Amino acid sequence: MKFAIQSRNDKLSNELMAQAKKYLTEFGLTFDEEEPEIVLSIGGDGTLLHAFHKYIHRLEDTSFVGIHTGHLGFYADWKPSEIEKLVIAIARKEFEVADYPLLEVTINYQHYQKSTKYLALNESTVKSPEVTFVMDVELNGEHFERFRGDGLCISTPSGSTAYNKALGGAIIHPAIPALQLTEMASINNRVFRTVGSPLVLPKHHSLMLVPVNGPDFMLTIDHLQLLHKDVKSIEYRVAEEKVRFARFRPFPFWKRVSDSFVASEVKDE
Ligand code: NAD
Repeated sequence: MKFAIQSRNDKLSNELMAQAKKYLTEFGLTFDEEEPEIVLSIGGDGTLLHAFHKYIHRLEDTSFVGIHTGHLGFYADWKPSEIEKLVIAIARKEFEVADYPLLEVTINYQHYQKSTKYLALNESTVKSPEVTFVMDVELNGEHFERFRGDGLCISTPSGSTAYNKALGGAIIHPAIPALQLTEMASINNRVFRTVGSPLVLPKHHSLMLVPVNGPDFMLTIDHLQLLHKDVKSIEYRVAEEKVRFARFRPFPFWKRVSDSFVASEVKDE
């Protein structure tokens, strides 16, 4: 089996990377940065986001596993002390694959025929370089609302515990193929109205944002931030592609949520 390792590049992550590479090679696995079948991400959730985007062109043939050298991560759930155990399990191919839904983002331009497509593992956010962001929101081709505020966040189920959660969005189990739209400080008064609640859309539904004022937007795709000019519309849907995680032991999603956000309170009771 071929493997690659993505490190956060701090001292501990680099030491663990060297250790894992040595062990896996001794077990007969091949280090291959171009076409790995398994990618070990050592660092934090951000490191796994980097690894995902590095191998985005071969998601069908790649499984990811995350080791956290800081706090417990959503994607990085193995501890540094467990590295030997993990390496042995990888070498013995003792893992199952869990696949999670992704978000497809398509940007159409006013004066350019070709559109740009992205895949996000966590979310895509849109903000305006102007003070107020104004967008028409269409659901399945029908006008839904005119949004005025700071911006909008469109997240995947596994990204629902990240930026989306900070915006008051719901946590969605990654077994549900859906996308979620959350508002960033919408303007709501006697003149302007938005729905004010996060919306959860199923697979095969589409969400389109159409600019009302200027055509320039700051768009994020996970950790990547890009300025898009001349935007005609931005379309979001649940992607056909999925991300694959190598699972070596049960670590149910809700336990992960509890351990990350509430565990210390529960212990005291
Ligand atoms: P980073 O690696 O420092 O990540 C920022 C924080 O988000 C970390 O604590 C990380 O553990 C956490 N995180 C990332 N993905 C998560 C997930 N799926 N579930 C729960 N927590 C998660 O910084 P980065 O590399 O720039 O990461 C980009 C991510 O940061 C974005 O995808 C976005 O979700 C998140 N972010 C959050 C906020 C916010 O909460 N207000 C604002 C901007 C960006």
